[in-house]
Amino acid sequence: MQSSDKVFGKQAELFENLPNGRVKCTACARYCEIPEGKSGLCGIRGVADNKLFLYVYGKVISGHIDPIEKKPVTHYRPGSGIYSIATTGCNWLCKYCQNYDISQRRKIEGVDMSPSQVAQTAMEYGADGIAYTYNEPSIFIEFARDCGIEARKRGLFNIFVSNGYDTPDSVNLMDQFLDCITVDFKGSGKQEFVRQYIGIPSADPVFQTLKEIHGRTSIHTEITDLIVPEVGDDLEAARKLCRFVYDELGPETPIHFLRFHPDYKMMDFGYTPVETLEKHHSIAKEEGLRYAYLGNVPGHPLEHTYCPECNYVVINRYGYDILSWNLDKTNSCKNCGYPISVTGALKKSSKRGTSVFRIIQ
Ligand code: SF4
Ligand SMILES: [Zn+2]
Repeated sequence: MQSSDKVFGKQAELFENLPNGRVKCTACARYCEIPEGKSGLCGIRGVADNKLFLYVYGKVISGHIDPIEKKPVTHYRPGSGIYSIATTGCNWLCKYCQNYDISQRRKIEGVDMSPSQVAQTAMEYGADGIAYTYNEPSIFIEFARDCGIEARKRGLFNIFVSNGYDTPDSVNLMDQFLDCITVDFKGSGKQEFVRQYIGIPSADPVFQTLKEIHGRTSIHTEITDLIVPEVGDDLEAARKLCRFVYDELGPETPIHFLRFHPDYKMMDFGYTPVETLEKHHSIAKEEGLRYAYLGNVPGHPLEHTYCPECNYVVINRYGYDILSWNLDKTNSCKNCGYPISVTGALKKSSKRGTSVFRIIQ
């Protein structure tokens, strides 16, 4: 592997030619209509010779072995180590982005890696799967799909950490390789919040994507909701989101309320008060969701997985670590036998937390 300025792009698959000579990208719900020689809003898909190219195909800007719980994913193969990769660019413009140095870059750069090299690197570092994360993976989905197919050949699984601002076309590609997705809401998807702090007209496509994934695929799905103090902590919006999750995805779907911390253009905001997160958690339980969590509050009792039947702590957690595992061989509660919706036995990956590379210039 070596860093290179050479554009390593490849023709994209998700696009349509329009009668006005522009090319419409169908990878995300922006549906950019791109003229010849220009790029879409994400900066990494652009038009040449009346075709759409994915300029970051084979360009990886960051690689790290993370705990799967950091995504956050708590009900799919707990304890796994995940090779997490990203490219530059993003289709959202979040003012609080923790990875803005990657996601808001519009340069085409990174380490040259073919899909098989990505999968092989994951193997060499002892990972159990690959996560496409840090920026929105749907914008580089053709590359992710090819990496994912190589990963599956080697017995690894694939996870998207996605904002869910997707399309029926991108869900079709996900179905070819994806095992798990965690869809990140912010401010519970409330319109005023997403317009002002993310730069999208509404979160409706995110809800639509979740219906598509649930209706047409068997991809394990978890929901995240970043609660931003004062401007993105509306309890009624949270209730609406929880009702949607219950009605459309089912009460077994895990939901995580994440604590905000100041970053990027929102340094004047404070951390989300823990009591605010606890109120969101209460709403999720009131609405019937069986597995609700607080995130980014290490040591809080609502990090644990509780049995919905007898309230026994079936997975005792601290931050991203699992301290004790009280499930039997069928992943049922050891106290009362209730089947807990966790996929896979406990993994004890020792590789979690290894930095492979990150290129920032
Ligand atoms: S993936 Fe990029 S180019 Fe395509 S519609 Fe979304 S923002 Fe536009
Ligand atoms: Zn129980």
